[in-house]
Amino acid sequence: VEYYLDRIESTSHLNAFLATYADEARSRAAKVDARLANGTAGRLAGMVIGIKDLLCYAGHGVHGGSKILEGFVSQFTATAIQRLIDEDAIIIGRQNCDEFGMGSSNENSAYGPTLNAADTTRVPGGSSGGSAVAVQADLCFASIGTDTGGSVRQPAAFCGVVGLKPSYSRVSRWGLLAYASSFDTIGPITRCVEDAALLLEIMAGGDEQDSTVSQWPVPSYSQYLSIDGSKKIGYFRESLDSEGVDESVKAVLRQSIERLRQEGHTVEPVEFPLAHYYLPTYYILTTAEVSSNLSRYDGVRYGYRSPKAHDLDSLYRLSRTEGLGAEARKRILLGTFVLSANYYDAYYTKAQRVRRLIKEEIERHFQEYDFLLYPTTPSVAFPLGEENSDPIKTFLADIFTVQANVTGVPAISLPLGTDEQGLPVGIQVLAGAFQEEKLLAFARYLE
Ligand code: GLN
Repeated sequence: VEYYLDRIESTSHLNAFLATYADEARSRAAKVDARLANGTAGRLAGMVIGIKDLLCYAGHGVHGGSKILEGFVSQFTATAIQRLIDEDAIIIGRQNCDEFGMGSSNENSAYGPTLNAADTTRVPGGSSGGSAVAVQADLCFASIGTDTGGSVRQPAAFCGVVGLKPSYSRVSRWGLLAYASSFDTIGPITRCVEDAALLLEIMAGGDEQDSTVSQWPVPSYSQYLSIDGSKKIGYFRESLDSEGVDESVKAVLRQSIERLRQEGHTVEPVEFPLAHYYLPTYYILTTAEVSSNLSRYDGVRYGYRSPKAHDLDSLYRLSRTEGLGAEARKRILLGTFVLSANYYDAYYTKAQRVRRLIKEEIERHFQEYDFLLYPTTPSVAFPLGEENSDPIKTFLADIFTVQANVTGVPAISLPLGTDEQGLPVGIQVLAGAFQEEKLLAFARYLE
């Protein structure tokens, strides 16, 4: 705990942590030490963990990277976090992120951007940017982030660490500040696959507080991390053909494919005829859900209330206008539009139907292939300031990550190489829904 507290302090320019819980972490560490001495310690004894500023931890602030929740204190602890604490993990603090998880560079945080420790002129990715940098720069042992469209995997790729997005509903969302409820997942960011497997195994499983969480039994992922026999793997043909993917990223993917072939696995290109619809579907449905989820931040019930308000209407309008950042306001407007009476069928209903087709498309591939392999992102970490200059390009950069959230399947990003400047490149592996056991074993083999 002391080691990490020192590290966090000496790297405060990275802006990875928004708050640390020093006294509490020290006193928990003393208790864990006592339990270790008498043989009653939990499976995560001594594991120092940081949590994204979207996860509730009772008695501590949770701001969702937003000014609108400034000063708000969690009333209860997220189920996923409670399960880690019950196994004697120590929560050291909360980590910077894009406002309510909306972004790919951490620049949409009301608390300033986090910097990439590999090159501080570059973004760490987002929205779980603080969580990825915390592991990259050794500010905690592991982080817990959230992934709605890539927010665990993309920053993990940009920072050279491991990021796991579980199947939708594998981990309870109770205590996670909602962005898009039918896409949101909670996942670990770690230095190796084995740690990710252990953290998932502890966080996952039924929870009476979340009616959507799966009741399926949770395998002991960390106990079964070896693969048997040769595998059949499909890679996204366009990720090697398209001009939109950087040469350095393609080179790392090619190396991984060659290695797998040399080791006796079958690797083939696969087609995704619906790929052009992934981003429109994702951004129509997530903006619809966010416009509904964020309506609770109205200046009445939580956090920020505009001092200029003079009646109910101006209370709502001014509190939301002043309290929410530009990206959040933009997405609320888009979502309200696609849900409005005249456009509901044309956009929202249609996107729901396309989501079903995209799900069927990936399920067909998993009948033939054990795993799918893509780059996590089309480029390495980009310079700060670039994202806001071209919002369409930013949305397009999510092309390889949103598919897993639209379809609900698990995916993991692994740091399998670097570009010529030494910046990390992440490669992503996907498996069928609820096949984390298989996915993690294969990821362990690849890493
Ligand atoms: N970049 C994506 C978005 O802005 C991913 C967000 C996420 O996974 N929370 O929606």
